[in-house]
Formats: sequence, structure tokens, C-alpha cells
Amino acid sequence: MAKKILFIDRDGTLTLEAPPGYQLDSFDKLIFYPYVFTFMHLIASKFNYELLMVTNQDGLGTDMFPENTFWPVHHFILKAFENEGVHFSNVFIDKTFPYQHINTRKPQTGMLTQYLNNPDYDIKESFVIGDRLTDMQLAQNLGCKGIWINNDEELGGSELTKMDVAALQNTISLKTKHWQEIYLFLKSENHYEH
Ligand SMILES: [Mg+2]
Repeated sequence: MAKKILFIDRDGTLTLEAPPGYQLDSFDKLIFYPYVFTFMHLIASKFNYELLMVTNQDGLGTDMFPENTFWPVHHFILKAFENEGVHFSNVFIDKTFPYQHINTRKPQTGMLTQYLNNPDYDIKESFVIGDRLTDMQLAQNLGCKGIWINNDEELGGSELTKMDVAALQNTISLKTKHWQEIYLFLKSENHYEH
């Protein structure tokens, strides 16, 4: 049976966003999303999704966001999830800036082509989980569905036109601020397997 995927954003989804710079480059900025461990543990253990992390880290590796401030926090995040039985089979990090219009940057799918037109994966039954409209646009571009953590509905909106936003309404399956609701939603989607 083809595998379903959860394409999961990092900042604002697994961790809280870190304004004003939106760079998780030190441990004092790291706060995990409330109850994310409880419900990601259940999602990872009860359902058959492959878990992927997909994140834009604008300018990572430049002077404004050196790699040596990024990796310690990033590895800590991954280890914390591993310890709760949550394994990301792949982590995709785009380091470009929006103005560069590179096709690996979300919402473009350049980092994820191995999962598209691939009979091993059931993209239609897969989800992007993220806190920005650009995550929902990624879902649209992949041909899957979106779960939008809508804590700040303006986030990521500046890269989209009003028409883009209207077109996303068919892609967004759930809007929520709570991981419990994401878990219950996925449970209802998967009830036929239990
Ligand atoms: Mg985010």
C-alpha cells in the first residue's frame, strides 16, 4: 500500500515562532509548541504516516544566520522528538531568501520531487502541517491537503496575492491552534484502518 506522508513545518509548528527575527539561533529562544510531544507521539505511533520535516531557514549560512548558531538547536529539537518515538525520515531545509525565487523554497516543491509521481506514496491522502499560508500553498502545489496552525494568519501572507489565498480554501482541511485537534482530525481520517 502506498505510504501517506505528513510534511511538517518546524518553526511555529513544532516549536513556537521566535519573533522578531524568526530565527531559532539560541536555546533561550526555543519553546516547543504546547502538547506537541504528546500528540506527535500518538500520531507517530498510531498511524502509518511517513514523517518529513520541511523548513525554510532564510539566509542560513550567511552572516545574519550563521550555521554554527543553527545546528545545535536544530539537533536538540530532532533528538527531543526521537526520544518520544517521533522519527523524521528526512529533513529538508531551504536556506534561500524569498527574493531569490528558488524552487526549493516553500511553497515550491523542489526539495520534495522524490515524493511526487512516485507510486510508493499516496500524496492525495498526505498532509502538510504548518503555520504559514505558504505551507498551505505547498500542500496545494504538492497535490495534498493542508492542516493550518493559524496562530498568526498574516504569517507568510505577504508572499501571496488575495487570489492565491482564496484558492487555498479547498486545500485547507483543518484550521486549528491545538495539536490535540490535529491528532483527533488525523484519527478521524484514519478510522477505517482501526
Ligand atoms: Mg512555520
